[in-house]
Amino acid sequence: MPTEGSQTAPAIELRGISKAFGPVQANKDISISVMPGTIHGIIGENGAGKSTLMSILYGFYKADKGEIFISGQKTEIPDSQAAIAAGIGMVFQHFKLVQNFTVLENIILGAEDGALLRPSLAKARETLTNLAKEYELNVDPDALIEEVGVGMQQRVEILKALYRQADILILDEPTGVLTPAEADQLFRILDRLRDEGKTIILITHKLREIMEITDTVSVMRRGEMTATVKTAETNPEELAELMVGRKVLLRVDKVPAQPGDKVLEVENLRFVDSAGVERLKGINLDVRAGEILGIAGVAGNGQSELLEVLGGYATATGTIRMNGEALDLTGTKSDGQSRRDSGIAHVPEDRQSEGLIMNFSAWENTVFGYHLDPQWQKGLLMDNAAIKAEAAEKMQRFDVRPPNPRLAAKNFSGGNQQKIVLAREIERNPDLLLVGQPTRGVDIGAIEFIHQQIVALRDAGKAILLVSVELEEILSLSDRVVVMFDGQIMGERIAAETNEKELGLLMAGVSGDAA
Ligand code: ADP
Ligand code: MG
Repeated sequence: MPTEGSQTAPAIELRGISKAFGPVQANKDISISVMPGTIHGIIGENGAGKSTLMSILYGFYKADKGEIFISGQKTEIPDSQAAIAAGIGMVFQHFKLVQNFTVLENIILGAEDGALLRPSLAKARETLTNLAKEYELNVDPDALIEEVGVGMQQRVEILKALYRQADILILDEPTGVLTPAEADQLFRILDRLRDEGKTIILITHKLREIMEITDTVSVMRRGEMTATVKTAETNPEELAELMVGRKVLLRVDKVPAQPGDKVLEVENLRFVDSAGVERLKGINLDVRAGEILGIAGVAGNGQSELLEVLGGYATATGTIRMNGEALDLTGTKSDGQSRRDSGIAHVPEDRQSEGLIMNFSAWENTVFGYHLDPQWQKGLLMDNAAIKAEAAEKMQRFDVRPPNPRLAAKNFSGGNQQKIVLAREIERNPDLLLVGQPTRGVDIGAIEFIHQQIVALRDAGKAILLVSVELEEILSLSDRVVVMFDGQIMGERIAAETNEKELGLLMAGVSGDAA
């Protein structure tokens, strides 16, 4: 029933939505229309207010002000039951599935009331099978959630919404947990849902995803909706500027590398994990002073193990030489401390469990691992005053926000936590920097900054080994690229002479010659 005389009412219209959490104005007077049968992207940096807005639409939060119209009808959504009744389904950032229930049980859970009163399990299974077939959402109805990967868990969430007959699907940062192949698969599913007339709201901070799949995109910044544009009429640079509020360099600005001597040499490196599986199957590579070697690959092909072995957190066989000297790979000097002593710094992939002590303050974290360095000692004690003063300066230089050294690491956003780790490792001025997923979960403005710091270290003549599952990041930062697949190196390319397609084939295990 259209309200304003037009043929088609928006599937969703929000008018003047505001929401505060204490002093934080998470949403300020937000208005937005989403047309049926379209994919509408919402982008914005962490904390911009995207999830809050969607939680209001899904009945999780109550807006302080504003109205919601569904297909032209003013609709109250006091709780998620009301949202489901209005045809809205949501796939959360953190899945809300019951771990020790099966896929089928999770899908019917909570749907017993209303129109779908106590369906028989057999009936439910049939409905599920049909839905899964219709939308090519491949799931195993009898698998336990705890036993399936995140890709399937996400498909279960989508099926759960479709099972409840949702016409409107909200996905909050759905690709954050997916591999590139899983993300591609998700996009094919979303395409199909749109073809079937569903309306999709896709929240992300990845511009590439927005450009690839959305029809329209709205930009949020600091609680406000700053723009809504047609995807075909915009470009990544414009969107980045709208998100951040200033011009952002999406391409890394760097001059050609001036590689010097070999800093790191790896020969026939093998690593077997605790389950007896060989994860590194004879790796050979080297990194020279003044160059960035990128390691591309789908997550889980040995890149993490390579970083752990190089960083001294796992034992291995083979040879690793730093500046020509062989390192101890199995004995008493096979640990993180010895590696640091030999000039290796390490920004681990998982900053929260390996890079930081979350309950310790930022200033303590800026020397974590290096606290025994003579410069931080005063007699028999640590020179806390000196560490704190230096931490404050490091945090300024690395633009850590807020620049408060006394705040515990856990109270910083992901991007700022990453900057604390990078400040510590880069400012140690290592001969070799190992850096894993440097910008995972990091905002666009901070990505630009982090990339600049890595390139500056290279230009200061240091060797850098970069592991990233983001091909775009690998291609724009690296001078040389090797691709890992199944614990082996599938091929090596000069970054400037290759492209995503060629690397993608190597990542899929298609051999170097064929690619
Ligand atoms: P986004 O999804 O764009 O990253 P959010 O909507 O999660 O942003 O958050 C917007 C702002 O509201 C942030 O400053 C966040 O800290 C704050 N916020 C979100 N949820 C809550 C809550 N339940 N309590 C207090 N503050 C919140
Ligand atoms: Mg969010």
